[in-house]
Amino acid sequence: MIQYVLYKEESKKFIAYSDSRKVIHVKSLEEAHRFDTPNQARKAREKAPKKAAYFRVYIVMDNGELVKENSTITKRKKFSQMERKRIYQKTKGHCYLCGEFVDFDVFQVEHRIPLAKGGTNDFSNLFPACNCCNSMKNSIYPEELLEKITQIFMYQVTKRGNNHTKCVVAKQVITSMMEKNVLDRAKLQIACGLIESVE
Ligand SMILES: [Zn+2]
Repeated sequence: MIQYVLYKEESKKFIAYSDSRKVIHVKSLEEAHRFDTPNQARKAREKAPKKAAYFRVYIVMDNGELVKENSTITKRKKFSQMERKRIYQKTKGHCYLCGEFVDFDVFQVEHRIPLAKGGTNDFSNLFPACNCCNSMKNSIYPEELLEKITQIFMYQVTKRGNNHTKCVVAKQVITSMMEKNVLDRAKLQIACGLIESVE
């Protein structure tokens, strides 16, 4: 699971919270507060305009490396058949976002961290996606897409709102899944063939 921190390069300080939930500055990544989405990090920065001034959103990669959002925008590249095969094999032909099987001829190469947000054409950042998910996701993070889909779903259910209890229950289930990251992580792991199903 990719996480995000607020970091100020000039002073080499990170944003964290004290026990009394006050915004504090810390020196190491280990002590830094981890956000699940870049949006949460930005919101936290807005809430503490003085303390968090000049702090930028950084992506904490799986290997612990820090990558600044928007720092380098890599050009989209055309992938060779060999490269496409390697990427396709990652999930055995399933879209890494919705899990649906996609034919080799039509699958799209997806950048997990969008190029517009500092992602690269590195193999570790590339996953197969179906056309629908690929066009929906475009230049946003998978977490943001999930947030949006949940929002659309909740809005549509509420709008049609003939069964209030059902809406409330659905909302609670989705919210708790989102909080525990079950929704996103499980789907990703299944799609990537790391686990068979959710226990
Ligand atoms: Zn899909």
